[in-house]
Amino acid sequence: MTITYEYEDALYVNLTNKCNCNCEFCLRHGRKEGSIYTEDSLWLEREPTRKEALDSFLSRDVCSYREIVFCGYGEPTYRLDDILWLVDQLKERFGRRLPPVRINTNGHANLILGRDVVPELKGRIDTLSISLNAVTAAEYTALCHPAQGEAAYQAMLDFAREATRYVPHVVLTIVDKDKSSEEIETCRQIAAELGVKLRIRSFIDS
Ligand code: SF4
Repeated sequence: MTITYEYEDALYVNLTNKCNCNCEFCLRHGRKEGSIYTEDSLWLEREPTRKEALDSFLSRDVCSYREIVFCGYGEPTYRLDDILWLVDQLKERFGRRLPPVRINTNGHANLILGRDVVPELKGRIDTLSISLNAVTAAEYTALCHPAQGEAAYQAMLDFAREATRYVPHVVLTIVDKDKSSEEIETCRQIAAELGVKLRIRSFIDS
């Protein structure tokens, strides 16, 4: 079972395969040869406990990495309580030497967990990378199929806006596939209105 893995000098953490979305472009749908994201080992036969995850961290030279990234093969905020516990444990051990911590998320944590979790990120999470994916709620729903329907789009935007109060770096991301220059410009405007950065990611074909 792969709990932590190295990718481009960062340490990635895989705690869950659960997700409330079913994005058309999700890497879980394919198996591109040679991509760390589509290796069978990222499918967890069961979710690791927080203690197993901590042991996995501590088996590595944690402070040697450029960044720690909670990502996984699913939506990591299903395990947000465990993520925050792990960050606290690591900060206790490594203090200021701990590399910056990022969560790659669909921005639905408040919907998933049924409470406003954003203030809990303060002092623990350095970067939130949130998938924007679309410029309207209807388009988002057609592309990502969130279990909560169109309301999930606004919830994601609200999450991003609130996060700017507690997290130093908040980034919205889009995948460039099938995006016109007008749509990309609209994404830029959405990000600017929220006060966050926009990152355009390349599509990894599966
Ligand atoms: S939110 Fe992420 S993990 Fe979930 S279906 Fe979409 S791409 Fe896959």
